[in-house]
Amino acid sequence: MIKISNLHKSYHTGTNSLHVLKGISLDVHQGEFVSIMGSSGSGKSTLLNILGILDNYDSGSYELGGKLIKDMSEKRAAQYRNQTLGFIFQSFNLISFKNAMENVALPLYYQGVPRKKRNKIALEYLDRLGLLNWADHMPNEMSGGQKQRVAIARALISQPKVILADEPTGALDTQTSYEVMDILKKINKQDITIIIVTHEHDIAAMTDKIIKLRDGVIGDMIINGELASFKKSYTKDKAIL
Ligand code: ADP
Ligand code: MG
Repeated sequence: MIKISNLHKSYHTGTNSLHVLKGISLDVHQGEFVSIMGSSGSGKSTLLNILGILDNYDSGSYELGGKLIKDMSEKRAAQYRNQTLGFIFQSFNLISFKNAMENVALPLYYQGVPRKKRNKIALEYLDRLGLLNWADHMPNEMSGGQKQRVAIARALISQPKVILADEPTGALDTQTSYEVMDILKKINKQDITIIIVTHEHDIAAMTDKIIKLRDGVIGDMIINGELASFKKSYTKDKAIL
C-alpha cells in the first residue's frame, strides 16, 4: 500500500537548513495498523505530512497504492487525497460553525455530492459511530471523545484506503483514548490501513507495528511486540590479539 525508499526532507528558513528525514525506508501493507513514535522534533509530523501528500520530499521515493507521489500539482494531490486518504488530528479540526452532520458531510461537499444526499450519508456514518442523536449539535457542545468520533466519521465518509492520524488521542483522557483506539481497531479490521503518530507507549502497543524515529532515521521497529532490529548489519571488529 505504501512504499517509501531512502526518503530525505529538509526545511530551509532564511540561510538555515534543517535535515529532518535522513533516509527513511518503510513498507506498510494494506490492512496494517502502524504507529510512529519518536521524541518531539524527530520528524513524525513531517513524515505523516509527506504520506498525506500535504508536503513534498527532496529525494528518495514514495509510492501510494502503486503510484509514485512526487511533485504533484495541488489539484492532483487534492484529488488523490480525497480518493485515498482520511485524516484525523489531535485537535479534531472540526469547523466550529457547522454541526456534526455538516462536518462529517464536508468531504462529500468537495466531491460535488448534492446536499441532501451527502447529509443522508453523513447521518449513516454518525450512526455507526454512535452519534446519531448528536447530528445537529455544534462541536462546542460535545466532549473531546465525541468530537474525535465526529472526526473519525468525517475521515471514513470518503471510504479511504488509508487513515493517517497525528496524535489522535493526544488531547483525550486515558479512558477516552482507549475508546478511540478501539474504534480505530475495528476500522482497521475492515482492511483499512491506519498509521498513527503517538508518543504514548500504551497506545502504540495496540498497533501491529511500531516505528521509532531517531535522529532522522528509523531507530527500531517493533512488530507484534517483537523487536525487529532495523540497523545496518555490522561486521564484528577483527580480533587484535
Ligand atoms: P515531530 O512531529 O516529531 O515533533 P516535526 O516533524 O513537526 O516533528 O518537526 C521536525 C523538525 O522540523 C523540528 O525541528 C521542527 O521545528 C522542524 N520543522 C517542522 N516543520 C517545519 C517548517 N514548516 N519549517 C521549518 N522547520 C520545520
Ligand atoms: Mg508532531
